[in-house]
Amino acid sequence: MTSITKNFNAKSWITVDPNSDFPIQNIPFGIGQTEPNKPFVSTIIGDQVINVSALNAKGYLKGIDFDANVLDQPFLNDFISLGKSITNPIREAIASVFESSNSSLKDHAEDQQAILTPVDQVQLLLPVKVGDYTDFYSSKQHAYNVGCMFRDPENAIMPNWVHLPVGYHGRASSIIVSGTPIHRPCGQQIPADSTQPVYGPCRLLDFELEMGYIIGKSTQLGDRLSTEEAEDHVFGFTLFNDWSARDIQKWEYVPLGPFLGKSFASTISPWIVTIEALENFRLEGPVQEPEVLPYLQYKGAKRFDVRLEVAIQPDGQDPFNVTRSNYKYMYWNYAQQIAHHTVNGCNINVGDMYASGTISGDTPDSYGSMLELSWKGTKPIHLPDGSERKFIADGDTVILQGFGIHEGVRIGFGEVSNKVLPAK
Ligand code: MN
Repeated sequence: MTSITKNFNAKSWITVDPNSDFPIQNIPFGIGQTEPNKPFVSTIIGDQVINVSALNAKGYLKGIDFDANVLDQPFLNDFISLGKSITNPIREAIASVFESSNSSLKDHAEDQQAILTPVDQVQLLLPVKVGDYTDFYSSKQHAYNVGCMFRDPENAIMPNWVHLPVGYHGRASSIIVSGTPIHRPCGQQIPADSTQPVYGPCRLLDFELEMGYIIGKSTQLGDRLSTEEAEDHVFGFTLFNDWSARDIQKWEYVPLGPFLGKSFASTISPWIVTIEALENFRLEGPVQEPEVLPYLQYKGAKRFDVRLEVAIQPDGQDPFNVTRSNYKYMYWNYAQQIAHHTVNGCNINVGDMYASGTISGDTPDSYGSMLELSWKGTKPIHLPDGSERKFIADGDTVILQGFGIHEGVRIGFGEVSNKVLPAK
């Protein structure tokens, strides 16, 4: 059978707007529900959410042997655990049902009723139960920018940075899906003119433009994965906003790193785009100098050309773009991150979330955080309504978007959009 998801010319009988992130070649996975406590594994073509559980129950996924119960779970973890040898054929079979020349469901209005729902009538839930979450720090421009601000240009990149993908263990419980409002966090900060901390709502609330990926295959404690083996353990990617309270972070981070300045919320897009769907967006990596240790060496193209954007939408206003970056601005790639993460024998599990770290390009209009865009608040961003932003204000909605285009086929992630409410 020829692959529909790999065919640039394939079209769906569902109308797909040219600017849609979800042509028939994408087929990402998520969890939706149209009534309380009835979650189902979902995918999307154009603006139509496909209930994969109903699709299977109506007999459209015949010939693939798996436990159908995984399609009625509140998270994708059991579905992902089926393994790529099952989930990839399911993805391909779904595309086949919706391909323009296939009339089985196209001509069956009653089944369509049970299977298709416009996306604005579906509640999209957090797609995975995240067991563990790790945030890396793998964009060199970001590490350099932050190093310049908190140290100086000569010592911006720390000696270890070019030898290993620096990261920290983040908080999984506060990873939430796009659309969920967040409250401004409270905590300790040091006023500029003081040596004594004060407590109160964070004043320097920031986004971090990142990509996340979900582990699709577990390892046993003690196992190490090579950069080559790592490939097989990635299910797919999401957009990721690693919300950050810069004032809390700055005071607390010595000497053990990020803690409450990060753990109050991280937000992700509702759709997990499979690594297979990103195949055409692969790019060769940057030359790594000095040469990295053998366990971090890799072959092949492990970066992705995914355009990334952030907009700020003040209450009652239109969204205003503040940066354009790209997932290709990574020094350390996902395979190196996984090889490093497991080199000490730490086990990884299905549903674990890894985030890239803030992705900053090499020009000031491509930086991935307000900290960098406003250069610690010294260069405010002017919004169309006449206001300015050094950081994120109460009432602002921060919107991340990401997509790649290859041979006229746009593969995207939807968006991560979350409103900031005043401190609780
Ligand atoms: Mn981060």
